Amino acid sequence: MHAHQKPSDDLIDTIIVGAGLSGICAAWHLRDKLPDERLEILEARQDLGGTWDLFRYPGVRSDSDMSTLGYGFRPWVGEKAIADGPSIRQYIRETAVESGIMPLIKFGHRLMSADWHTDDQCWVLQVAAEETVCGPCCSSAAMAARSGG
Ligand SMILES: Cc1cc2nc3c(=O)[nH]c(=O)nc-3n(C[C@H](O)[C@H](O)[C@H](O)COP(=O)(O)OP(=O)(O)OC[C@H]3O[C@@H](n4cnc5c(N)ncnc54)[C@H](O)[C@@H]3O)c2cc1C
Repeated sequence: MHAHQKPSDDLIDTIIVGAGLSGICAAWHLRDKLPDERLEILEARQDLGGTWDLFRYPGVRSDSDMSTLGYGFRPWVGEKAIADGPSIRQYIRETAVESGIMPLIKFGHRLMSADWHTDDQCWVLQVAAEETVCGPCCSSAAMAARSGG
């Protein structure tokens, strides 16, 4: 769907689910290629990093080298190629901060469902924000789709 076909200016062009390693990567590329599109990231937890924020047991680390697991657009420069969890968490956070992605993340927002509305040509999302489940009144819980998906 092109910008001039949007049913409403309130709609979000793209919503990314999850602010883990992948979500921050997707956001970076979308901002790079489509800087004028409205983008939001829904993150169920209260912080970013996903796996690398959740698992904090002693010795948690990557299995792959970070030149493979890290971002091509922001190469890993840490000393250890097989990195520890806190270093990866920090790497994800610094990437999000430096690239201006942080303000796009809605923490404590869990996607519950996504329904395609053919008439409006958009997805309508049900999002649980902390203890509160948002209903159809939440315009920010709607996603205009591109290329039918
Ligand atoms: C110890 C360990 C080592 C690993 N080593 C490697 C490795 O070397 N190489 C490799 O390729 N992979 C490895 N992995 C797998 C690792 O999970 C991935 O590398 C990568 O971190 C996954 O990132 P992700 O963003 O796709 O998912 P995640 O890190 O799982 O992030 C998903 C995010 O989405 C959020 N989310 C989920 N559902 C919803 C919802 N409905 N609404 C809103 N938010 C939601 C979660 O809260 C989370 O923050 C390892 C995993 C572990 C535990």
